[in-house]
Order: sequence, then C-alpha cells, then structure tokens
Amino acid sequence: MPRPVINYEKLGKYDEVLEICPTQVFEKVNGKIVVKRPQDCIGCRACEANAPEGAITVVDN
Ligand code: SF4
Repeated sequence: MPRPVINYEKLGKYDEVLEICPTQVFEKVNGKIVVKRPQDCIGCRACEANAPEGAITVVDN
C-alpha cells in the first residue's frame, strides 16, 4: 500500500499539498500538515512531485 512520508525539515511552510492530493490524504492539524488518511493514498505521487525537494516521499509497503 502506498503512503506519503513527510520530512518536516524540508517541508517548511509548504501546504499546497492539501489541494494537490486528489484523495485528501493530508490535513492541517494545529497548523501542521499531517498524513491523516494514509489508507486513501492511491500512489499518484503528485504530492512528492510538487512539494519541495525531499519533503514528501511516497513509500510502498
Ligand atoms: S501519492 Fe497521490 S494520493 Fe497519495 S498522498 Fe500523494 S498526492 Fe495523495
């Protein structure tokens, strides 16, 4: 099952991923982007491609 992993040091203030993810896997909780619904990830990698380099990695396990 694919799921995104966030590297917060590289993510910075980037939060456009909230709109980019087609299945709303991410949510902002107390000002912080979190992987709220990993089970809904379809592995499209749009988050990884659009985030700052290395900020989001989609893993498959
Ligand atoms: S890979 Fe696609 S579906 Fe999965 S979290 Fe990233 S943008 Fe969302």
